Amino acid sequence: MSTETALQTTLQTDVAVIGAGTAGLAAYRAAKAAGKRAVIIEGGEYGTTCARVGCMPSKLLIAAAEAAHELRHTGPFGVHVDGQIRIEGREVMDRVRRERDRFVGFVVRGVEKIPEQDRIRGYARFIDNTVLEVGGHTLVRASRVVIATGSSPAVPEPFRVFGDRLIVNDDVFAWEDLPRSVAVFGPGVIGLELGQALSRLGVRVRVFGVRGGVGPLTDPAIRDYAAGTFREEFHLDPDAKVSRMQREGDEAVITFLDREGNTVTERFDYVLAATGRTPNVRGLGLENTGLELDKRGVPVFDAATLQCGSSPVFIAGDANDVLPLLHEAADEGKAAGENAASWPQVRPLARRAPLGIVFSDPQIAMVGQRYADLETGSFVIGEVSFEDQGRSRVMLKNRGLMHVYADRSSGRFLGAEWTGPRAENIAHLLAWAYQQGLTIEAMLAMPFYHPVVEEGLRTALRDALAKLSA
Ligand SMILES: Cc1cc2nc3c(=O)[nH]c(=O)nc-3n(C[C@H](O)[C@H](O)[C@H](O)COP(=O)(O)OP(=O)(O)OC[C@H]3O[C@@H](n4cnc5c(N)ncnc54)[C@H](O)[C@@H]3O)c2cc1C
Repeated sequence: MSTETALQTTLQTDVAVIGAGTAGLAAYRAAKAAGKRAVIIEGGEYGTTCARVGCMPSKLLIAAAEAAHELRHTGPFGVHVDGQIRIEGREVMDRVRRERDRFVGFVVRGVEKIPEQDRIRGYARFIDNTVLEVGGHTLVRASRVVIATGSSPAVPEPFRVFGDRLIVNDDVFAWEDLPRSVAVFGPGVIGLELGQALSRLGVRVRVFGVRGGVGPLTDPAIRDYAAGTFREEFHLDPDAKVSRMQREGDEAVITFLDREGNTVTERFDYVLAATGRTPNVRGLGLENTGLELDKRGVPVFDAATLQCGSSPVFIAGDANDVLPLLHEAADEGKAAGENAASWPQVRPLARRAPLGIVFSDPQIAMVGQRYADLETGSFVIGEVSFEDQGRSRVMLKNRGLMHVYADRSSGRFLGAEWTGPRAENIAHLLAWAYQQGLTIEAMLAMPFYHPVVEEGLRTALRDALAKLSA
């Protein structure tokens, strides 16, 4: 029996979008707005990774952690909270899940507004370049396809030894109570955010890394400063030497060298693998297409047009792993949907200024070009420490170090990496300046109110200008 006759339904459409996450929904809407027939296929639950297990629940957990942290640090202001601070894990997780479900609800209601005939439930698999089999019940014959299947936590095989004590970010947001202890592997964005939040909520946390990385930072001075700052608060070893991992009873048992070189064995309720994410391409049947695949099995594509080779297949969002961030997924999805609709005419996506924020405390931010990508000798570094920065000190948030990079010949602002207070806000100012192609001089001609944390940025810009003039 042919695939077609074995399936109950066959559909013909212009654009088939695989995945109803942020990128997929944007792609579907763009294709429809361009006047095309389109369908959106979802194998998992509606609600998007961002709302369900990503950006939103992680920020909810962080908000609870910040409340606990602030309460513990009122003393230096002469404000004393008498009695013990009590963290009720069940209440913490109840609010995280309740608010999370509210955000998911908004997304789901949006999806439900999509005409029913355009929504297909089930996992899609390519039969060839533009024919998809969905959930064993539907055959979709499309003229173009957008892959927007997102990404999943990549868990290294040796961690499997922990069995059901091994968790990923998704599991944290399903907890009904806080555990006593968690070993976090991977001090990247997710590991840092969740590790610090859990620690502030009274969970015994150890964060282990490899090769010294801290968040997405590439500037060694900022990375070392950030590591030192976090280490004052919770155990963080970005270059950990773990010699043994095993499961004993209901616990994960880890043997490692502590920073003094002593061999330590500790037991944990859970091991959180925050060891990176991998594009969801397994099981997509890409081997049935004529698409060229890279060594991870991801179709080779043009990062500007999102087109896979010269085919009518496009790939957007975390699935292509260019910039696994929410606003990038939305932009890429829209561009992929538009290009799929107008194929074979395609247009490059006008990318916004690179912008990344880690919601740790102090926050970490990166704007524009990364330090690691700049050519040695072609730029100067303007620096500011937030330790003596006026407003930061007033608020007792005076931990931080910022580097701004400026092009030696043109004086243009190239990028910045830093950790410090209110970084999420300063990052936006800098991203806007970068996108406008401003020089350091032009940025310094902008207003700075007093007393604000942004005056710290002005100090770094002045330092850069002085170095440019020298
Ligand atoms: C813990 C965490 C915190 C984060 N915090 C932030 C943050 O603060 N800021 C930020 O910008 N970004 C953050 N991110 C990243 C952000 O969430 C992602 O970049 C974004 O959600 C990716 O959207 P997407 O549309 O590519 O994927 P998704 O939203 O994951 O959508 C992919 C969809 O495809 C479906 N699918 C997969 N395979 C198939 C198939 N074969 N057939 C049918 N359907 C399929 C999946 O079920 C899923 O619904 C965070 C991520 C995590 C995990």
